[in-house]
Amino acid sequence: MNMRDNRSSKGVCLDSFEKDSIAEKRNELYLDVFDPQLFRKNAEIVISRLEKYLADSSIRGLALTNPSVLLQAAKEMMTEEHEVIASLDEEKLGAIIDLYIKTGIQVHSPGSMGRQFSGVIPLAGIFDLISSIVNQPSSFYEAGQLPNVVERIMADEFNRFIGWEPGRFTMVTTSGGSLANLTALLAARNDRFPRIWSEGMCALERQSPPAIAVSEDAHYSVCRAVGILGIGEEQIVRLPINQERQICIEKVRPALEEAAERGMKVFCIVASAGTTSVGAFDPIDELAEIAEEKNIWLHIDGAHGGSLLVSDKLRHKLKGIEKADSFAWDAHKMMFVPAPCTLLFYKNKEKSYGAFHQDASYVFEKEPDIYTEFDSAGKNFECTKRPLIMNLWVLWALYGKALFADKIEYLCQLTRHAYQILKEEPDFETLHQPEANILCFRYLPSNLRKSVFPDFQVAIRNRIREEGKFFISKVDIDGVGALRVVFMNHQIDVDHFRMLLYEIRKIGHELLKEAM
Ligand SMILES: *Cc1c(COP(=O)(O)O)cnc(C)c1O
Repeated sequence: MNMRDNRSSKGVCLDSFEKDSIAEKRNELYLDVFDPQLFRKNAEIVISRLEKYLADSSIRGLALTNPSVLLQAAKEMMTEEHEVIASLDEEKLGAIIDLYIKTGIQVHSPGSMGRQFSGVIPLAGIFDLISSIVNQPSSFYEAGQLPNVVERIMADEFNRFIGWEPGRFTMVTTSGGSLANLTALLAARNDRFPRIWSEGMCALERQSPPAIAVSEDAHYSVCRAVGILGIGEEQIVRLPINQERQICIEKVRPALEEAAERGMKVFCIVASAGTTSVGAFDPIDELAEIAEEKNIWLHIDGAHGGSLLVSDKLRHKLKGIEKADSFAWDAHKMMFVPAPCTLLFYKNKEKSYGAFHQDASYVFEKEPDIYTEFDSAGKNFECTKRPLIMNLWVLWALYGKALFADKIEYLCQLTRHAYQILKEEPDFETLHQPEANILCFRYLPSNLRKSVFPDFQVAIRNRIREEGKFFISKVDIDGVGALRVVFMNHQIDVDHFRMLLYEIRKIGHELLKEAM
């Protein structure tokens, strides 16, 4: 026997003391942490607290906590026992749940009007729990069979509203709209500049540098993607917007021509179907015509407003969507499922595989069989990926389209109503006609002097947040601060909006008084 064999045989040989202690440890684990009955008991504690939370219809927004106070509170809930597995302290479990709930934006309350994530449909949350327990990361069919099949089903369901050729298009889920935008832009770049993937930017040699054209109001993730792709933010061509903050179609050709004169090669136009700031819809149909004529990839960032497709009354906002090359759609916004859940569609299935080219024998097969044909890993960046589609599918499967369409229509209607209310109030300024469920405006009392109080809107917004009753957001419109509300919850009605206006006036007066 040589030295090496000696060592390895010693390594696997356990003495009786070690054997005993391993068995003991395993028993301990099974007795407590993994005990199914204990799971049930814990789940009941959680469910009953969540039930109370959902039943609370009081008006509340966000109680912003000092982070150092919260840090301390969280630390105090941690066990000091680390030598043996601590026994579960149910009281602490309850306290952690309460703290978690209390410190969040109260998405289920009518006071929450500030962000684009949903007050989720509770059944979707229950499904999220199942996904966590059965743990089926879904980039590969073998690990997530139902999720991968269901992705195909949902792709076909939603394609009814898009209208691509069945069998030719494809859809993949991603962890958020930002990643979907990055993935689509990568597919576009690799399609138009195929050598960059392997050779890097030096493949371009003396070619014009790749550039993309986006609205002045595009989401920051698009510009970030341009940076990540090595295209460079300086190669972004900004397309001017009109009064309604949509891409101004008359100015697109001149902007593209000017870019070409400056030696840029625009290979992709990104249009928004619902901008983040005001929910404006760019003219997809007309942009598609220009894109086709110039052989430019058209990507639609429908992270926010893609959901309007499910409504017969609102679908026209995305007229021309079938002409797009790719389309990102966040279901965790207006489809009311837990974040993240994003669907990225491609008109042409082949192009979706262009985003990534990888060989990895431990996961990828050279020749797909009936199983691996359903893998999504070739199309998404994530390796271990949450089965994102399940929450959405189960709602769609059990309740059907109307659950979403009705809620979306109500929220868009409510937003138009709120806009009408503002129009009649002389001390409020409207900034756009709402196309979806986002509304931006300013409070301008007659005794406000902008030169004295330039960030008045932001100050109002922050004070509202401090008081905790309502939660709204802010945005710069033409470089000047504005208040922004996003209606994501059907429990909000016009009276809640009127209460918000009352609150804004009250706080505005207080702020002006304090500034004097
Ligand atoms: C929210 C949003 C994004 C980003 O999506 P995430 O899911 O938050 O990553 C991108 N574009 C638009 C228009 C959005 O509204």
